[in-house]
Amino acid sequence: MLSNSLIEQDRAHLVHPVASWRGHEQSGVRLLKSAKGATVTDAQGHQLLDGFAGLWCVNAGYGQESVIEAATKQLRELPYATGYFSLGSEPAARLAARLAERAPGDLDHVYFTLGGSDAVDSTVRFARYYWNARGMPEKDQFISVQQGYHGSSTVGAGLTALPAFHAGFGLPFDWQHKITSHYAYRNPVGNDPQAIIDASVAELRAKIEQIGGAGRVAAFYVEPIQGSGGVLVPPKGWMAAMRAVCTELDILFIADEVITGFGRTGPLFACEEDGIVPDMMTTAKGLTSGYVPMGAVFLSDRIYQTIADGAGAAAVGHGYTYSAHPVSAAVGLAVLDLYEDGLLANGTKMGARLMAGLHGLSDHPLVGDVRGRGMLAAIELVIDKQNKTPLPAAAAPATRVFERAWQNGLIVRAFAQGVIGYAPPLCCTEAEIDAIVERTRLTLDQTLEDPDVR
Ligand code: PMP
Repeated sequence: MLSNSLIEQDRAHLVHPVASWRGHEQSGVRLLKSAKGATVTDAQGHQLLDGFAGLWCVNAGYGQESVIEAATKQLRELPYATGYFSLGSEPAARLAARLAERAPGDLDHVYFTLGGSDAVDSTVRFARYYWNARGMPEKDQFISVQQGYHGSSTVGAGLTALPAFHAGFGLPFDWQHKITSHYAYRNPVGNDPQAIIDASVAELRAKIEQIGGAGRVAAFYVEPIQGSGGVLVPPKGWMAAMRAVCTELDILFIADEVITGFGRTGPLFACEEDGIVPDMMTTAKGLTSGYVPMGAVFLSDRIYQTIADGAGAAAVGHGYTYSAHPVSAAVGLAVLDLYEDGLLANGTKMGARLMAGLHGLSDHPLVGDVRGRGMLAAIELVIDKQNKTPLPAAAAPATRVFERAWQNGLIVRAFAQGVIGYAPPLCCTEAEIDAIVERTRLTLDQTLEDPDVR
């Protein structure tokens, strides 16, 4: 059979990202064949509701004709243009201008990358260049947050604070530091929002002192909602409080909106809801809704002008062959039209329905916590609500919960620690949101029957 030989080819030759290589040889690939709206069809014809929008990226949903047309038109007209030598293309210029107009505050300058990891990498390079241009080269230390994820480049993986991204890779670097996450459900200071904010502020200040003072610290990285760490939503005011510390101490505040950008939490950017303007902001995923690769770094006017003045007539030596790729930019423009023409509004409405539906699962014996904002949510499973005892490792939540949901016609993100993550396309209908919740309940009931869950 065609699909069997493809599975063999994949097994023998395709190295999968963030997978157990030996585990993958055993399990083989699940081939996906086609998709429309929020529904994905696999090679066997099995239809699934994609409750995770691919990898939290297909925000506009699959098969959007206007996006396909925009990409096709651009492929015919000009499939590639470099940004080197001051060359460029029409869609890239248009997209940069539209994004700058929509971005918070003075984030008026856009640097396009291929995805989120190289966007994060670019901010580290820009931050170093910025402090050098200001005559403060000793500001070369970086701080991020435990449970954070900032990509899989060597530098970004070091800012990331998930063990699998460090172990065996010799990371993090000694200039990469972490503070405790705001993770409210399991926070040592309890779940009072103000107590969590105060603890984070105190820890950030202490960490800066420990490193040698603000004169040593280049930047602080945050996700408006921590995604890969298990969808951890900070208390309202947390972002603003951390931003205030960075402003006071002249440390760059960098918001990683790779997941939260482009309507995932409601507004175009999550920072809008937090009422803050970062010095730099990274985005990817929803920027092109995953149809083609692209990321973007937004730079504040101050950062941009300082770097530009610092370089003067010399080149700022940072760039990729595919920076500002015209096909990706054309897709970005078409996707932005969709967001503005109703998808953001629908996402906000459906996000409220999703959150209400998931909160409705709180009565289930396995559901310890429900959290999220907009179309970004999670439930955390425990075997004992009082003591918040996690599912035992023997119950293999990452594989078994994923498999049960799959058999129930639902794709979710199942984290190893027993967290189920949701990030459905913003185009979902009410019926689809309700189906996501219903299929989750069925999955939870089946998980409760697992002899290893006790
Ligand atoms: N930052 C965050 C917050 C992310 O969630 C991700 C990807 N999940 C990245 C950076 C890296 O993006 P990419 O996988 O496109 O390189």
